[in-house]
Amino acid sequence: MSRWIPYGRQTIDDDDLRAVAEVLRSDWLTCGPAVPRFEEAVAGFCGAAHGVAVSSGTAALHAAVFALGLGPGDEVIVPPMTFAATANCALYQGATPVFADVDPETLLLDPAAVEGRITPRTRAVIGVDYAGQPCDWDALRAIADRHGLALVADGCHALGAGLGARRVGTLARMTTLSFHPVKHVATGEGGMILTDDPELDRRLRLFRNHGISTEARQRENAGEWYYEMVELGYNYRLTDIQAALGASQMAKLPDFLERRRAVARFYDRAFAGTAVRPLGKRPGLEHAYHLYVVRVPDRDRVFKAMRAAGIGVQVHYIPVHLHPYYRSRLGTAEGLCPAAEAAAREILSLPMYPGLSDADAGFVAERLLEAVDG
Ligand SMILES: *Cc1c(COP(=O)(O)O)cnc(C)c1O
Repeated sequence: MSRWIPYGRQTIDDDDLRAVAEVLRSDWLTCGPAVPRFEEAVAGFCGAAHGVAVSSGTAALHAAVFALGLGPGDEVIVPPMTFAATANCALYQGATPVFADVDPETLLLDPAAVEGRITPRTRAVIGVDYAGQPCDWDALRAIADRHGLALVADGCHALGAGLGARRVGTLARMTTLSFHPVKHVATGEGGMILTDDPELDRRLRLFRNHGISTEARQRENAGEWYYEMVELGYNYRLTDIQAALGASQMAKLPDFLERRRAVARFYDRAFAGTAVRPLGKRPGLEHAYHLYVVRVPDRDRVFKAMRAAGIGVQVHYIPVHLHPYYRSRLGTAEGLCPAAEAAAREILSLPMYPGLSDADAGFVAERLLEAVDG
């Protein structure tokens, strides 16, 4: 078979190559000026006061859990319909993830289910803007405020999404982003935490740099050698090479989003009135379409037929609580989150990225309708 259409991929052009080459010729490959430039570009786009760049979306989640001061004995409510890192980040700091089910139509964290999982140990809720659609953050915030919980958005699917004029990045106390190549903006590996809170910003910066209270360039500029390690942090820094690529990509984000939305409209029309059921959409929001997820009958057979046709469909996700690690370490099992478990048997992610041509989207839709009929 000659052609392979992946479910997601980066879009890199000559501007991006130039931006990276420029950094490679400069004095700073890491800890330099490209990092704050990228942070300002992302925070500015999203309307957040602070952006802290880190080495991955997973590092961003870990840093958020650290910044909140969570640890052993603390519970963090998370949805199961997500990448494992959303829950793993609690475990990294010794806290316990507690799974609350999702809405059966949108697969977004269900506020009523969150309320049902709150105990005296609950300290935080991490919502996931699954597929690129913002959660019901107003309902989640009301619950968080009533119970004194911190609200974190895993926005790794949702850079550029919003609720009315409010962008993802301003809807929770902290929002985490990923710049993996399948996400909206690529830096290879990379991530960021957005927040309006200067104290959280300070703690996030400590955490990504070994818990050291000044950064190398600050010391160099001040002509000083002295530094102190005041917390146990990690080396979660993003390089200037990656940050320059990210800043160059940010300039194209509006075009990337427009193309993703156009592909989504095309699929919506193609599947209207068929046995292929796109996920439910909440009214009045701007979807960022990291993923285009449909539910189909006989999913495993349809998956194989699509792969055989050269189409890299995926399943996002196996519910996190059903992974062997969680089953054996936390004792989680089927029945804990029925809506997520039922969805996981039917969902399929179709190719969705800015470089997907109309012809390829047409091919994907045709093959899917054939596979579902066949
Ligand atoms: C991609 C992703 C992550 C992790 O990001 P990495 O950059 O791959 O570490 C976390 N959560 C969700 C929902 C993601 O999609």
